[in-house]
Amino acid sequence: MVIGIIGGGASGMAAAIAASENTENQIVLLERQARVGRKLQATGNGRCNLSNLYALEGRYHGDDPSFASCALKTFPPEETLQWFRNLGLFTVTEPSGKVYPYSDHANSVVDVLRLQLNKDNIQLRCGCEVQKIKKQEQGFCVQCGDESFMFDKVIIACGGLAGTKLGGSMSGYQLLRSLGHHCTRLRPALVQIKSDWSGCVSLKGVRTNCKAEILHNGKIYAQSAGELQFTDYGLSGPVIFEISRDVCQQPGVWCCKLDFLPDVKEEELHKELQRRGDAGISAEDLLTGILHNRLGRVLCGAVGIRGNQSDLSDYDLRNVCRAVKGFEVTLTETMGMDSAQVTAGGIVTREFEEKTMESKLVPGLYACGEVLDIDGDCGGYNLQWAWSSGLLAGKSAGGIP
Ligand SMILES: Cc1cc2nc3c(=O)[nH]c(=O)nc-3n(C[C@H](O)[C@H](O)[C@H](O)COP(=O)(O)OP(=O)(O)OC[C@H]3O[C@@H](n4cnc5c(N)ncnc54)[C@H](O)[C@@H]3O)c2cc1C
Repeated sequence: MVIGIIGGGASGMAAAIAASENTENQIVLLERQARVGRKLQATGNGRCNLSNLYALEGRYHGDDPSFASCALKTFPPEETLQWFRNLGLFTVTEPSGKVYPYSDHANSVVDVLRLQLNKDNIQLRCGCEVQKIKKQEQGFCVQCGDESFMFDKVIIACGGLAGTKLGGSMSGYQLLRSLGHHCTRLRPALVQIKSDWSGCVSLKGVRTNCKAEILHNGKIYAQSAGELQFTDYGLSGPVIFEISRDVCQQPGVWCCKLDFLPDVKEEELHKELQRRGDAGISAEDLLTGILHNRLGRVLCGAVGIRGNQSDLSDYDLRNVCRAVKGFEVTLTETMGMDSAQVTAGGIVTREFEEKTMESKLVPGLYACGEVLDIDGDCGGYNLQWAWSSGLLAGKSAGGIP
């Protein structure tokens, strides 16, 4: 059997290696960039958060997130890590369940996959962009520039639109649509959010732990806790990525309420500020030792207290406490696809068999990874989906039990 795999990213490489287990299969992996795994190399800030031990259905989104269950149960994180261990990759798991390569370098992940592709029954073709796929009476005709290939089966592993500078594109959606599949609306997810609050500019680069709630017309829309990073245009960091999905996509007032001291009660903070106020400490140092200095000063400024002011009233102190425990920042829009880590939306999953990843519309056609309408939370869930769905598609197409 000759199997063509379109896309040499996370899911495509996993599919190729899985399908090649049967040495009678001939695998042709077509990648449009100069090398495989380009996006993978940039993941997790170059560290590659390749999995999460808690990758279960509740961590995934899409019109039918339950579609992801079958692949995740067939190739759960533990089994995927064993698969990587067999390829020669050592990994470390953090208490949060996040898994990284032991080397702390994404290159290690790309390298073990690349080495494994170096097999007699896998032909790797980089710089080869597939433009057209035609279903023939027997198999498929795949066109890349002047060249065409004949395959018995085809796996589409072209990824999503997110991370455009790293290779994200519309290509996979277009190829699948040309074969009769449908695509839901694409939106950026795991992405920074813009704000018109002028304080962001002064706080650029400040990182802090916090509890964050997204409010839509005053009602809680999403919440999370973790690290926040201020940027000149708004809010970033894992806590923001986590709650960014579909923010500002509907009309209305969107804002983010930030608790910069989630583990300290407002009354306890008030007592401490009273003590500092009684000692004549000025506004400039009112929150010193509690918050990042710049953040403390900006919050005092935001409630109208000047830096050198030391005769602080209880009203002032209460306002500072409220700012620390529930500061509201208005949100305008999310950043675009080029900044996003993952695409929300994609090819309609009910058009595929969850047990095999084969198309219900075109026999012999498979899809895996981000091109499908499945996106995961921040923390290794998206790569776990890419591995699980890629391995399942590769084994199914390759006829491997
Ligand atoms: C900056 C960044 C950081 C991230 N960090 C993490 C993280 O730490 N943990 C995590 O779980 N997820 C992370 N993600 C998300 C994760 O990288 C993706 O969800 C995952 O790579 C998707 O795998 P895929 O195989 O579907 O697509 P990709 O890995 O994007 O691979 C698709 C491949 O197909 C190729 N291709 C596309 N069209 C064609 C065509 N027509 N012909 C030939 N080749 C084609 C592309 O060039 C690409 O190499 C991150 C994403 C970004 C952008």
